[in-house]
Amino acid sequence: MTIALIDIGSNLTHDSFTLDRDAVMERALAAGVRRQIVTGADLAGSQQAAELAAAHRGVLSSTAGVHPHHAQSVDASLGERLALLLQRPEVVAVGECGLDYFRNFSPPDAQRAAFVAQLRIAAAVRKPVFLHQRDAHEDFVAILGEFRDALVGGVAHCFTGGRLELDDYLKLGLYIGVTGWVNDERRGQSLREAVPHIPADRLMLETDAPYLLPRDLAPAPKSRRNEPCYLPHIAGAVAQLRGESLEALAATSTANAVRFFRLS
Ligand SMILES: [Zn+2]
Repeated sequence: MTIALIDIGSNLTHDSFTLDRDAVMERALAAGVRRQIVTGADLAGSQQAAELAAAHRGVLSSTAGVHPHHAQSVDASLGERLALLLQRPEVVAVGECGLDYFRNFSPPDAQRAAFVAQLRIAAAVRKPVFLHQRDAHEDFVAILGEFRDALVGGVAHCFTGGRLELDDYLKLGLYIGVTGWVNDERRGQSLREAVPHIPADRLMLETDAPYLLPRDLAPAPKSRRNEPCYLPHIAGAVAQLRGESLEALAATSTANAVRFFRLS
């Protein structure tokens, strides 16, 4: 039985893919990853992601937004520039956006301002949000709570939390994006405990390539670069933890992504 997966978090515009992006895309398709949502993390990257997606309709879509690391770079032109990108049919979500107090590359107040600005835009253009959160759970939940009724949807991308965070996110109506973090038996312990409790209609899968190479991949590529073609490996781990077949997980997670991002 062939599976059809959607990688909802692929940083395909990353420099590490410059030399062989076409081969990376072909390997993904051959592995059953029928579509990738290319993450935009700043305005220039979001523009690049949109152009890449436009050149590969039906195989790539993209997001447009500003990662909390880059919140400081946000100025008054953000709304106008994002709105232009979000008019494009291949740009299916706002983000990634959110809060990251682990690194604080941008000051927390700048992060909150950029996050709120992007949630307003998402509500206005009626597109879902692709969310990033690290060490900022309380502020993140409080801000999202205020926008809950205005947003058409949100996904907690690269969810690494445990049961308590999961419950807070589910109450907010969020979808949950699971990466190869789940393949790490030590670091991913609390996530592995939470995965069986994600409702089937809220679960989506992602590689976050080139980051987060699944730790148990054998043989591991010498480059240590993660690729969308490893998504079935991640799906296998998630299916096992949930006690379901890979085929069943592929069917539900793909249907969720099609519905969430309104893919055709
Ligand atoms: Zn992220």
